[in-house]
Amino acid sequence: MEKVKIGTIWLDACSGCHMSMLDMDERLLELSERIEMVYGPLVDYKTIPENVDVFLVSGSVSTDKEMDYVKKIRENTKIVASFGDCAVTGNLPSMRNPVGTRDILQEVYSQEGNPCSQLPGMSEDTPLPRLLKRARPVHEVIEVDQFIQGCPPHADLIHLIVSELLEGRTPRRGIRTMFG
Ligand code: SF4
Repeated sequence: MEKVKIGTIWLDACSGCHMSMLDMDERLLELSERIEMVYGPLVDYKTIPENVDVFLVSGSVSTDKEMDYVKKIRENTKIVASFGDCAVTGNLPSMRNPVGTRDILQEVYSQEGNPCSQLPGMSEDTPLPRLLKRARPVHEVIEVDQFIQGCPPHADLIHLIVSELLEGRTPRRGIRTMFG
């Protein structure tokens, strides 16, 4: 049987969602019989692959580079899932939104009260990813097919949704309440 190709990515996020994924424990072995992991923080692939069946996107879209990533993912994937509350709502990364990009960078990089003259991620010629004005939930940037809520989502919920997707079914939204 051909394996289902799954990718997962970590944008503006902590590692919590992927740690929760690892909490599926021995169920990961079971899933590995049916899936091929084609992209993710635990495998060493450098570019977003083509023809992916399911992509789990963790984190909000906060930089121009992340914007490129999600667009590329959308172009190359059948089912895109927002994975965790940072992807679903903006959650923690979006707390910077009311402050403004320059002010938040200045707050982080100023030293002993002295303003920083070269803020990373602000100038046009920087090789660093540039911060967008707002950290955005993924569905504001691309179309999303599935939402997996929680901070982080419970391992049982991840397992349920991934299993359903492998069966070709799209679980109804708002399923999080089953897991508290
Ligand atoms: S949803 Fe929570 S656990 Fe997941 S990346 Fe965001 S802050 Fe971390």
